[in-house]
Amino acid sequence: MNIKVSRRIVKGFVLLFSLYAILNFAPNKHFMLILLGSILIISLLLNTVFCGWICPIGTLFDLIREAGKKIGNIPVIQPTNKVFKKWIKQNKKRLLKIDHYLRYFRYVLFLWILQSIFLGLASIKEEGEHGILSVLYLLIATIIAGFFIERSWCKYICPVGAFLGIVSKISISRISRNEEACIKCNICTKVCPMNIDVANRITVKDIDCQSGLKCVDACPVDNALSFKTEIPLFSLKKQGKQNK
Ligand code: SF4
Ligand code: SF4
Repeated sequence: MNIKVSRRIVKGFVLLFSLYAILNFAPNKHFMLILLGSILIISLLLNTVFCGWICPIGTLFDLIREAGKKIGNIPVIQPTNKVFKKWIKQNKKRLLKIDHYLRYFRYVLFLWILQSIFLGLASIKEEGEHGILSVLYLLIATIIAGFFIERSWCKYICPVGAFLGIVSKISISRISRNEEACIKCNICTKVCPMNIDVANRITVKDIDCQSGLKCVDACPVDNALSFKTEIPLFSLKKQGKQNK
């Protein structure tokens, strides 16, 4: 089974299970601790696979982006979409700069949550209605952005992703590129939803990488790109195609 199909099966199963869990369980402190502990262990062993393969919010934002692409292809919307795409091309440099700075926001959020935990959530309560409204506006803005931008939630908001990105630095697994096999086609860079320049990395150590392995899946050359881990059983590389 190829990487894309396996990833979709895992994501679909987790999404359905999460919906079932939300409707049927009231998560308690112990459940949350076990969940967070498991995510931490998975991340130490297999880098950020939680983000790329498991997280149901990431899956929802993938679906939102897919919907965005479909809406853009509706005949009456196509002309506006073309103008929009042209505008993006013309302002690419400026937009990349904004994207770069916005990505720091999730770390701010992560630190804010940490201090709130230490203060016994007192600071969240102090914010009152104002705070809840701000969170709601932020969520709506992120969902709208999700129609145009791949994984807007993961890039700009998710504090769990921010934390796991830091943990990934000491993970025993990462994506690695074999310079001898690589034909420098740049496909891996083009498909990366987190805009990582994979084609110019030997190992992907970027804190934003979500280990969804779209790059490994899209690479047209056997053994050029692989997900390497010190546990050989979990190493993944593209198979079944001829070297080009
Ligand atoms: S580098 Fe590869 S695994 Fe990491 S986010 Fe980009 S496509 Fe996904
Ligand atoms: S897709 Fe594969 S062959 Fe192409 S640049 Fe990336 S690693 Fe090299």
